[in-house]
Amino acid sequence: SKPIVAIVGRPNVGKSTLVNRIAQKKEAIVHESRGVTRDRSYHDADWNGVDFTLVDTGGIETGRSDDAFSGRIREQAEAARVEADVIVFVVDATTGVTDEDETVARILRRAGKPVFLVANKLDNPSDEKTLWDFYSLGLGEPRPISAVHGHGTGDLLDEVVAAL
Ligand code: GDP
Ligand code: MG
Repeated sequence: SKPIVAIVGRPNVGKSTLVNRIAQKKEAIVHESRGVTRDRSYHDADWNGVDFTLVDTGGIETGRSDDAFSGRIREQAEAARVEADVIVFVVDATTGVTDEDETVARILRRAGKPVFLVANKLDNPSDEKTLWDFYSLGLGEPRPISAVHGHGTGDLLDEVVAAL
């Protein structure tokens, strides 16, 4: 079966937007806000002749308490650790590091699998100074991308398929 690349991160960082761009299909639904009743979706993708399955771990159920909410984020990260060959951890460069990012990072630091830290929403290169914050997550160099515009996504995919 094909290798699995899981896209993880807290809600609203742009995971589904990135999946839609990479898979180049509109199967993953992009939502404007939190409160989505959808757990995980699987998408065929390929890059440089390498086929893989992309997992969008977008689902957060509505009407849950904050504790349950962060529990779901943890579950997604744990599931990715089990099932994925490579993990792409998306953070939002426009908001900086949050407690939820730190929760996910704590799990992924002991994943024992390649983890690519991706700072999304860098639509303008002049915003890249916010990248430095994300070194504190202990997952190496954050890669700047804009999932909306496609900046940086080709370089990211080169690295991801090389790690498969
Ligand atoms: P998810 O919850 O992590 O799957 O995030 P979504 O993909 O649903 O995106 C959440 C919001 O961020 C949407 O309004 C997107 O349009 C927006 N977004 C995603 N990627 C980018 C980006 O590269 N730049 C900007 N400016 N907005 C983005
Ligand atoms: Mg999503």
